[in-house]
Amino acid sequence: MERKHVLTIAGSDSGGGAGIQADLKVFSALGTYGMSVITAVTAQNTLGVTAIQEIDSQVVQLQLDAVFSDIRVDAVKIGMVSNHGIMDVIAQSIQRYQPPHVVIDPVMIAKSGDSLLQEDSIAALQNALLPMATIITPNLPEAEVLLGCKITSILEMRQAVKELAGKMNTQVLLKGGHLDGDAVDILSTGREFSSPRIDTPHTHGTGCSLSSAIAAYLALGEPIEIAIAKAKEYVFQAICHAFPIGKGHSPIHHFY
Ligand code: PLP
Repeated sequence: MERKHVLTIAGSDSGGGAGIQADLKVFSALGTYGMSVITAVTAQNTLGVTAIQEIDSQVVQLQLDAVFSDIRVDAVKIGMVSNHGIMDVIAQSIQRYQPPHVVIDPVMIAKSGDSLLQEDSIAALQNALLPMATIITPNLPEAEVLLGCKITSILEMRQAVKELAGKMNTQVLLKGGHLDGDAVDILSTGREFSSPRIDTPHTHGTGCSLSSAIAAYLALGEPIEIAIAKAKEYVFQAICHAFPIGKGHSPIHHFY
């Protein structure tokens, strides 16, 4: 069978657990060919982020043109994009090259508490980047920023996911992992996806991996609800197989 090509546009994690490194591991684990456009380099380990160097937007542009002008792209995942200059460049490229699927994880704050998005770029994220998406995958804190209100229960999630989809004019998978109990994610079609909660500190990179797995399954031809169900099972298994690599929150394990 012809191999599918999946592109991640995201930030690098020197610890190898999240960002570009997680995305490329997912693409390989799911049998697709992975490519990367790097938007920022983070100095990071299992304890947190100690530095962020944004990549010049012109260099982001050159990476995008290098990939799209030569290689067929079957799906795109967009993760950490920390400033509006880079968001504009990405939005223009998506418009120009029209990849068939665009999964956007609107990354704002890492689990370690470190901010990965400049405050003055939240409006650009909403106005320039999110409208390019086939689907966006906010967690609860990100959805609260996008909607401007608190979400504290499954009932409120059901309402919020519909509001977000209307506001952003795109499909939304609202991830409920920040609530207690099972991890329930709700798609704006109303479909709900539930996984048992796993009691482990080693969940670094789960958000990055879920959106990458959805992109990979879409590239492989799965319809959106099947792509999400398979991606969620993949991340669940990867959390189950996580092992400690440092002093803090270690990443999930992709090759189980
Ligand atoms: N570092 C980078 C470069 C990321 O893109 C992300 C999330 O998207 C993170 C860190 C945060 O990962 P987590 O919140 O799973 O620890």
